[in-house]
Amino acid sequence: MGIEAALPVDSILTTQLHRVMNWARRSSVWPMPFATACCGIELMATACSRFDLARFGAEVMRFSPRQSDLLIVAGRVSIKTLPVLQRIYQQMAEPKWVISMGACASTGGVFDTYAVVQGVDQYIPVDVYVPGCPPRPEMLIEGIMAIQRIIDEDKIPRDPDGMRMPLNIAVEPNYRPRPQPMPVRIGSLAGR
Ligand code: SF4
Repeated sequence: MGIEAALPVDSILTTQLHRVMNWARRSSVWPMPFATACCGIELMATACSRFDLARFGAEVMRFSPRQSDLLIVAGRVSIKTLPVLQRIYQQMAEPKWVISMGACASTGGVFDTYAVVQGVDQYIPVDVYVPGCPPRPEMLIEGIMAIQRIIDEDKIPRDPDGMRMPLNIAVEPNYRPRPQPMPVRIGSLAGR
């Protein structure tokens, strides 16, 4: 990475063990994608070259819950699928984190029906809510960075019994939609 050239030879760094552990944890968050609908496409875009989730050390999507510590629920969850989601959450490694991505995962979205879960936080603890339909990749990255900051600051909230409590962070939109860069014109190609 080139940093070795800037460091004196045989230099020593002193710090605390928990700081090193938190630094390692927040720099290598491994997401478990639970993508059930269109928000999943934005989740995929987040890991692609344009947005490059690897810059935040979180691009290693695992499809095994035991290798994951960040559950990203992207899309609507049906009542039938709910036991699968809960099983995956239970099997994930501690400490673990949950992002609810998009209106459907957080509230059921436009699917106000008996078959769709009206907010996954009724069944699993959600740390970060990323709003939108769908949220842009930048917003998902903002949500992941919010979790990284909490890990870095060692601020895992616990109740009086020592049980982990959800962070309940709501990400605000961090972009302003731009108008079309070019006016769309419809004309005839005849005579060209
Ligand atoms: S929030 Fe919108 S984009 Fe995301 S799954 Fe629901 S309908 Fe699709």
